[in-house]
Amino acid sequence: MVANRWLDGEGFASIPATHARQACSAPRRRLHWGRSEEGANSTMPDELRRRRQNDEHLPAAHEDPYTAYHDFDLPAYVGSTSFQKLPLLTDAAALRERRPDVAIIGAPFDDAVSHRPGARFGPRAIRTATYHSGSLNSLQLGIEPFEWLDCVDAGDAPVTPADLERGHEVIRRKVLEVASTGAIPIILGGDHSITFPAASAVAEAIGSRRLGVVHFDAHADAANSTWGVLRSHGTPMRRLIESGVVEGRNFVQVGLRGYWPPAETLAWMGEQQMRWHLMTEIESRGAEAVVADAIAEALDGPEAIYLSVDIDVLDPGLAPGTGTPEPGGLLPRELLRAIRQVVSVVDLAAMDVVEVSPPYDHGEVTSTTAHRCVMEAISALAAQRRERGEAANPTRLVRDRSGA
Ligand code: MN
Ligand code: MN
Repeated sequence: MVANRWLDGEGFASIPATHARQACSAPRRRLHWGRSEEGANSTMPDELRRRRQNDEHLPAAHEDPYTAYHDFDLPAYVGSTSFQKLPLLTDAAALRERRPDVAIIGAPFDDAVSHRPGARFGPRAIRTATYHSGSLNSLQLGIEPFEWLDCVDAGDAPVTPADLERGHEVIRRKVLEVASTGAIPIILGGDHSITFPAASAVAEAIGSRRLGVVHFDAHADAANSTWGVLRSHGTPMRRLIESGVVEGRNFVQVGLRGYWPPAETLAWMGEQQMRWHLMTEIESRGAEAVVADAIAEALDGPEAIYLSVDIDVLDPGLAPGTGTPEPGGLLPRELLRAIRQVVSVVDLAAMDVVEVSPPYDHGEVTSTTAHRCVMEAISALAAQRRERGEAANPTRLVRDRSGA
């Protein structure tokens, strides 16, 4: 085998001495079979424990550079396009057997939009809107989420275009399939109409536990129809309340603004005892106080929370890639903080991030923030697990045998 001077350390002679010393004296990590680096569990030869932070990793001198890195540790732009290069596990039986803590689901559906289309491309854009790979470290929460939670990407619901009923049905079945394993589904939209089938499936999966909803959006999405269409992205919240999935009083909306819905829709929402917090209230009281109220209202009765994030709750200047942009919205830092605030205290049943329309995005601004919304939720779930004193359940990677 041809020696590679970068792999055996000689190449570091040309970089500053302190860095070179650090790099050359770093422990040479080997691939470990089993679920922990200590080799506590060597009964799963198919499972490959990933290396730790990739910037601290040097392959051993004798390792073949072609196979030295697991796909998970390669740069974000190389290899798998699953969310954060997590194991892609689309098969229902495999999911049931593995029982991951968190499973990403794509809902590439935008047949129900009232204005700009494009959210069908949202899942792919959100999945890959990252420059990180390997074990991520949340500076916000001081935790490496994939060290604590077994996370997978369950793939997309098998949507086909131009059939609202079928699209919603396959999304419902996909979310039910995942949620029934006990995993927390995080659904990437897609237009907001997908929250109707997705939350319906989650309610079915959690059985007798009651569901509250915390819904970030510029829009109430509680119309009866748009141009006569009941399964519109302007109507999912009304469908969820009408069908009994969520009680109106535990349906809490944050960030509403602009010029919609009309007074009669707000009157219906009031009759259902829905609660909503306008952007003007956030302007006067601050996001944190308003979100704290929203959590308490959503949990006034229910045990579990469905968190729905319409990316248009953000100001369109900071999230232009969306279908119905409404000026005057939240800052990304307010939304990311709000997601940590919600997920760190509730029992999260599921989450969706919707209305990312990549064709209207610039420089992946919107899809990147949507990706971070998901990461903030996963990190907060991990922190919750740590705080409860529960054992870590690190993300397990499977070696790609075809390449070996
Ligand atoms: Mn919406
Ligand atoms: Mn909206």
